[in-house]
Amino acid sequence: MSAQDAAGAPMEGVVYLNGRLVPAAEARVSVFDRGFLFGDGVFETVRAYGGRLFMAEAHYARLVRSAAWAGIPLAFDGAGFARILEQTLGDRRDALVRLTVTRGEGPPVPDPAGAGAPTVLAVARPAPEADFERGIALATGPWRVVDAEAKTLSYSSAVVALGEARRRGADEAVRLNPAGEVAEGSVSNLFGVWAGTLATPPRDAGILAGVTRGVVLDLARRAGLCVVERTIRPEALRKAEELFVTSTGWEVMPVAVLDGAPVGGGKPGPVTARLAAMFRDKVKEATGA
Ligand code: PMP
Repeated sequence: MSAQDAAGAPMEGVVYLNGRLVPAAEARVSVFDRGFLFGDGVFETVRAYGGRLFMAEAHYARLVRSAAWAGIPLAFDGAGFARILEQTLGDRRDALVRLTVTRGEGPPVPDPAGAGAPTVLAVARPAPEADFERGIALATGPWRVVDAEAKTLSYSSAVVALGEARRRGADEAVRLNPAGEVAEGSVSNLFGVWAGTLATPPRDAGILAGVTRGVVLDLARRAGLCVVERTIRPEALRKAEELFVTSTGWEVMPVAVLDGAPVGGGKPGPVTARLAAMFRDKVKEATGA
């Protein structure tokens, strides 16, 4: 899957907007919506396999944390969250469904005081085709992470990094934290294998706590793999035996190329393959798909 494929085309079918399913082409949000004006909102993207949501509770928990950070009230609990996603999904089987909550309409000034009721929008799109054997290409650059505490709508820095990585022929950008350490991708978390040990940057490296990252760490520990959350310097990436990224869309995706050079022979490595297989088993166990 390339970042392009991941985009999908959600313009057809229905979307969920403030309690109702409406045709996508007719759905309208105010020009005074603060999500539009200031990126003042939060979101989650959940995967459905065979029509069943995967890890919905973990996504809801992160949405609650993001909304609390932003000070945006949520009008639904975990079951309500799942219901909105399921309604939006309709009869789609393998899909990504994204739920966005903004602070709603307000005067076009940053002060959140005058905002009205939150806007709640959910949109589904087909799950991306993921080519595990081919893997993806990563580009490194000067790109930094900002505000990873919460999954907010403010994705400009990720968008700039991803756009530049795409222009260089890569699928994903490696972003650094202010200390110059490896943090995460623009839309994914990063893992590597050095001397047989699986490593990923710790939460306090300024990363988003990826749901897929959490699943992979859990699977790795249960399987007795040697796994650490530790600082990764950008220079170390070139020396990795294996690299892979994780995200709801990419699942466990090997990195075949780093800045134009093959990683670990350009084929998925054994640790990556093993974790991807365990991830598939977990999906099957949870959704039957
Ligand atoms: N980091 C960033 C910045 C992201 O946007 C995403 C995608 N949500 C991830 C990591 C991966 O998170 P998840 O596994 O929950 O999709």
